[in-house]
Amino acid sequence: MSAPSPGTESSPAGVLRVAVDCPLRRLLDYLPPAGQRAADLPRGARVRVPFGPRSAVGVIVAHAQGSALAGGRLRAVTALLDREPLLDAALLELLQWTASYYHHPPGEVIAAAIPAALRAGQSALAEEEWLEITAAGVGASLAGGPQRAPRQRELLMMLASLPAGIRLAQLDALPPGARPAARAIAKRGWARLTVRAADAATAAAAPAATARGTALSTPPEPSAAQSLAVAAIDAAAGHYGAFLLQGAPGSGKTEVYLRAVARCLERGASALVLVPEIGLTPQLLERFRARLPVRMAVLHSALSDGERLAAWREARSGRARVVIGTRSAVFAPIPGLGLITVDEEHDSSYKQQEGGCRYSARDVAVRRAQQAAVPVVLGSATPALESLHNARLGRYRLLPLPRRADQAAAPHLALIDLRAHAVHQGLAGPVTQAIGRHLAADGQVLVYLNRRGYAPTLLCTSCGWIAPCSECDARLTVHREAAQLRCHWCGATAPLPTRCGRCGFAVKPVGQGTERIAETLAAMFPDAPLLRLDRDTARGAAEIEAVMNALLDGSARILVGTQMVTKGHHFPGVSLVAVINADQGLFSTDFRAAERLAQTIVQVAGRAGRGARAGEVMIQTEYPEHPLLQGLINGGYEAFAAGALEERATARWPPFSRLALLRASARSAADALGFLRAARACAGDRPPVRLLGPVSAVMARRAGRHHAQLLLEHAGRGELQRFLDAWLERVEGLPEARRVRWALDVDPLDIQ
Ligand code: ADP
Ligand code: ZN
Ligand code: ZN
Repeated sequence: MSAPSPGTESSPAGVLRVAVDCPLRRLLDYLPPAGQRAADLPRGARVRVPFGPRSAVGVIVAHAQGSALAGGRLRAVTALLDREPLLDAALLELLQWTASYYHHPPGEVIAAAIPAALRAGQSALAEEEWLEITAAGVGASLAGGPQRAPRQRELLMMLASLPAGIRLAQLDALPPGARPAARAIAKRGWARLTVRAADAATAAAAPAATARGTALSTPPEPSAAQSLAVAAIDAAAGHYGAFLLQGAPGSGKTEVYLRAVARCLERGASALVLVPEIGLTPQLLERFRARLPVRMAVLHSALSDGERLAAWREARSGRARVVIGTRSAVFAPIPGLGLITVDEEHDSSYKQQEGGCRYSARDVAVRRAQQAAVPVVLGSATPALESLHNARLGRYRLLPLPRRADQAAAPHLALIDLRAHAVHQGLAGPVTQAIGRHLAADGQVLVYLNRRGYAPTLLCTSCGWIAPCSECDARLTVHREAAQLRCHWCGATAPLPTRCGRCGFAVKPVGQGTERIAETLAAMFPDAPLLRLDRDTARGAAEIEAVMNALLDGSARILVGTQMVTKGHHFPGVSLVAVINADQGLFSTDFRAAERLAQTIVQVAGRAGRGARAGEVMIQTEYPEHPLLQGLINGGYEAFAAGALEERATARWPPFSRLALLRASARSAADALGFLRAARACAGDRPPVRLLGPVSAVMARRAGRHHAQLLLEHAGRGELQRFLDAWLERVEGLPEARRVRWALDVDPLDIQ
């Protein structure tokens, strides 16, 4: 409880500081309901409050003795919605830390962590209807019950033997007529309907795996490195420790998570398992379910509101002992948390990129582990340079997993010079020959290209016109199957024209997308069943899984796809991986582009091979002498990372500095840039941080709005944070701020 500071007026009943879901970067003060003291309303409980002309649901974050608002202007809470806190103290603290670190309105951060129904004020507890016997009913049963109503008599006798009562839903499992009989005996006063919290009543329910009759699978004998890793994590139980588990795809990282989680469960604690969005495949879930005999709650972005609410309650009640989920699951309520694991910690889906609070679930997970004093395991074949740097500094303990003896040898990487070979439809001669060779030898082929659609450009061969998006600075992508032009930036679509929009001459698609590469390969290898995997062919986890299964069971021989093929699965039958174009990653204005390229190549290469047969990986490029590609080919990800970290140190990029990016967009470039110039001016003449910009974004006009940004940099996290605190308050008050949409991105991943 804080003492009233100067300028605050104290209130005898105390003041509640409430997080309301609104864009204000602060908590709002309310009085307790009439006749109550603020201290009697628990932190973490929801309250209904008057908010402007309407009412809103908020969460009590703190108590205070007074408020800066004059007493007369303070309004009172209308109702307390939870007797017990909905969010416990630890979670509330984590959410507040997140709001303050990412400089996002606390009400929005807290609201986003609560399922929609609870946000709207619904009861936190799931409720069930029960039927229980009354004293009159006991008397009637002793007298033998109603003789002429056999169903009512049976039910009464049964209730007499069940003093705790029976769930109304369970009556449906009895012979027909039980429900009318229940109504009849309730009417006679022999039984009554009650409503009870479902959470409490079923706490002792059987573990899900056993209840479903699933046999638990036998784990493989751990390797020495796996045993060491598990022992190290286990030894950290009960206090904070961060581990970086580094091992090639298939080296057994998931085995380590499974064993570490099992140890955590044996201690009576619960575990949080974070996976990237695309990694949450049914297969992975099955693997956890088959190994851990406890209830699990699964949280990901494709759940309906009802499913999310159910999973959230499972987690909060402690019934689910393992919570497994994607980004936002880092805020799941987990009583008795004992361990956090973050699989593929380098994956960009952990960072909220647009809309809402731009947090990194990996970084929040590390913070959560610190607060809860539990170990956290970050796993990857290609750790983020930030994480490798933390390991070098000793902040994270490195747990390396070498290839297992029974695992495929490291894939062989080769660069194919696009300038030195004949190229047909984007495929160099040596690559097409290799595909033929591998198919003939019964191998499978994985072709990676980070561009969906048929072709990235539609060109007039007479006047040079290129089909543009009218709302963006982008070219429209040709989607031939859908007979459409699509903008990959704003989603606009148009019918596919056959003639030039300017001179009426014939147009032709230029360049390669997955659709076109698939078409070319299907024509070249008509006997090899081919599948394509990108956002156009698969939207949900089930569709992705179906494609992956076709490759696993051999019904597909060639798979052409985007980023999606680089994640999640190991394909033992794949003997050749072709990377169609590495060059986008080499010459980007984004300092992270090279890191992403290296991660993609290593990840996709790691999907291939079985037994002694190493996978072959061919990377097409126009710059085979580029030092990054050379480092990767000759020394693997470690050599690349060492070189890239040196470059970052020289250029003062993260992890050798801290960044924040102020983004703005407006209908006009003048408004967007004007706001950012005013924001820059707020920093004063000699700002303690380095300010770069404002500049227009690389793709400046998107969906009819002009995007621009101002970059802030400082070597120290604390200094940058302190600066942002004071500066943002001034930025918020700028008159220019009202003419633009703006957002701050702390530790941005994408700075283009
Ligand atoms: P990663 O998570 O690093 O990709 P996994 O844990 O999924 O690796 O392991 C890849 C495959 O190897 C799985 O089928 C797994 O069951 C198996 N595996 C893992 N560890 C061992 C081991 N010690 N002995 C035998 N098989 C193992
Ligand atoms: Zn033309
Ligand atoms: Zn567009």
